[in-house]
Amino acid sequence: MSLSSQRIADVYQEVINRNPGEAEFHQAVREVFDSLHRVLAKHPEYVEASTLERICEPERQIIFRIPWTDDNGGVHINRGFRVQYNSALGPYKGGLRFHPDVLLGTVKFLGFEQVFKNALTGLPLGGGKGGTDFDPKGRSDGEIMRFCQSFMTEAYRHLGDRVDIPAGDIGVGPREIGYLFGQYKRISNRYESGVITGKGITWGGSLVRTEATGYGTVYFTEHMLRTRGQSFDGTTALVSGSGNVAIYAVEKVHELGGTVVGASDSSGSVYDPDGIDRELLRDVKEVRRGRISDYAQERPRAEFIPGRGVWAVAEKTNIDVALPCATQNELHEKDAHTLIKAGVSAVAEGANMPTTPEAIRVLREAGVLFGPGKAANAGGVATSALEMQQNASRDSWSFEYTEQRLSEIMENIHIRCAETADEYGIPGDYVAGANIAGFTQVADAMIAQGV
Ligand code: GLU
Repeated sequence: MSLSSQRIADVYQEVINRNPGEAEFHQAVREVFDSLHRVLAKHPEYVEASTLERICEPERQIIFRIPWTDDNGGVHINRGFRVQYNSALGPYKGGLRFHPDVLLGTVKFLGFEQVFKNALTGLPLGGGKGGTDFDPKGRSDGEIMRFCQSFMTEAYRHLGDRVDIPAGDIGVGPREIGYLFGQYKRISNRYESGVITGKGITWGGSLVRTEATGYGTVYFTEHMLRTRGQSFDGTTALVSGSGNVAIYAVEKVHELGGTVVGASDSSGSVYDPDGIDRELLRDVKEVRRGRISDYAQERPRAEFIPGRGVWAVAEKTNIDVALPCATQNELHEKDAHTLIKAGVSAVAEGANMPTTPEAIRVLREAGVLFGPGKAANAGGVATSALEMQQNASRDSWSFEYTEQRLSEIMENIHIRCAETADEYGIPGDYVAGANIAGFTQVADAMIAQGV
């Protein structure tokens, strides 16, 4: 083993020892490290400056208590997290996830990914992530509001438009952002628009922010397809999930001439051979806050597949493109085989780390184009940065202009990943391209800023 590969193995072991039981965090670190052998062999300065060790350890991790009362006066306690991961390129930036499975390790893995993703946008953003094990499912509006207020009552002291800027993620949409911002404003007595992104349009939000992650994933996929002379036009696609990312991925695929025939939620999947009705899906999931089976009932030929992920739809029909847009580790090795049999030519991650390492290997070995989340879903945070730009200049841009900016950013991310992969002699390897381009940018800034 070369000296640099030995160092990678040693630091990885140290990450495991220091963060016991945090399997998702280990997985995220491992995926980046696997891409770095070539870089460290060529650039020993990264090893000498201990950048690997420094990049794995978050700058600050905050854990706090969130007491709140339900509608019957019952008191509940949840746990809140904010991991301020790396500020080499800018203030910490990243979403908040409200989901009962959230642990410190979840937030750490998401924060780690965010550092490189944010670097890839080319915008001045550090990386961070936050969340809580609060389960918003079935909670009333008043309960959600009181929970968000309690979350912010502690979190506000760690935030600021030049310090740390949260946004949404799973379980956190415009409603929650409103309650969080309102509480920040009340406590701080400052109308500091740039302290949080994903705000409502009339009070400092940006057009396209809602659509940005889904649209961006589709743009990135379109660029990958183009390298093989293909496009979305006439393709059949699957999108997992049915939240904000999935809904707008469906919309953009349809705009580009493809047809999305499947979507899902935690209760199961739906196969809709006529193409997912984006408006109905949004109505069922975001307005009525219902289940995907309700969607199936309202569509003439749609079929509900209870308890199974959306990749099961690939057993019924040809699939050209698959976009996992739900959550981590949702596309497994057996799903990769199913998709390959169904004829898939491109997979891009709208969610964070939805594809297991084994599934990525299988897809890549079969010659499937694979766009990792750090690159493919960076459109959300990139548009958050555009929101911050509008807030800083007290301006608001048109939908067309903002979407144009997003589309240019996604094109640049694609170019950066592809060129980096070429430079290291692994053309078409977007995983390595994204990891290397993100890592070197952050590591260079860390070296320049001293220990
Ligand atoms: N939660 C999103 C992500 O995973 C967006 C973060 C943001 O806009 O700050 O990138």
